[in-house]
Amino acid sequence: MRSGNGMRLMAWMLFGVVVLGWLLLLPEAGWAASCDCSVAVDVGHGLTVPGATSARGRPEFEFNLAMGTLIQEELVKSGMTRSFTIVNPPSLKDRLRIAEEKQADLFVSVHHDSVQPEYLRSWVIDGRTRKYCDLFRGYSILLSPKGMQYSSSLELAKMIGRRFRAAGFLPAYHHSKNVPGGRHNMIDEELGIYQFDNLVVLKYAVMPAILIEFGVIVHREEELQLQDPEIQKKLMRGVVDGIQEFNASYCLPR
Ligand SMILES: [Zn+2]
Repeated sequence: MRSGNGMRLMAWMLFGVVVLGWLLLLPEAGWAASCDCSVAVDVGHGLTVPGATSARGRPEFEFNLAMGTLIQEELVKSGMTRSFTIVNPPSLKDRLRIAEEKQADLFVSVHHDSVQPEYLRSWVIDGRTRKYCDLFRGYSILLSPKGMQYSSSLELAKMIGRRFRAAGFLPAYHHSKNVPGGRHNMIDEELGIYQFDNLVVLKYAVMPAILIEFGVIVHREEELQLQDPEIQKKLMRGVVDGIQEFNASYCLPR
């Protein structure tokens, strides 16, 4: 009788361990990209909420739209024909709803960066007083550990970050906790990958999701470089090649 109870207890414990393991692994195991990978290229901000303002007064949304369009067009040319841009939806959660409805395998949000307000200074350009900061420049790749596909998102971020570094781009450090006013942990210092826990488009995404700040548009020199078609093309190449590497590693025929 006692040994029967013991056996039952052991069986239940084993069952509990299996269920717990399954629950822990489920989010990652449940995901695989299709081989004709569909990428939601999320163009950050919109016409009414244009995001940051560059050192010369250009809205971030215009930078994001130019870069997002370039990336989406190249993804389609590279064979990821179901890829699409998300432009000017009503809300942040609508961005994810659209991505899910269109069955996106990956979510890549396109942004350009500013700095903490205490670093901004004034200058006069084209007869207008504008804000700038020449202290910080470079790209950042943002992830939320609260996202369902965190480890896959990190893999994707690394594949893109390695390509940015190989192309000569440097990460920005002003979001880091080691910089006065910085608030975020660096996940990978070499590759410029940051932990942003609560960005809506990252933490509620069901697919691997990253947000890329392509550069700092309040930096007077970097703003101009980010509008140079050759620089834009190099950054786009880093994203598209990183996505292709990721897709080759994770795609499943459907
Ligand atoms: Zn932004």
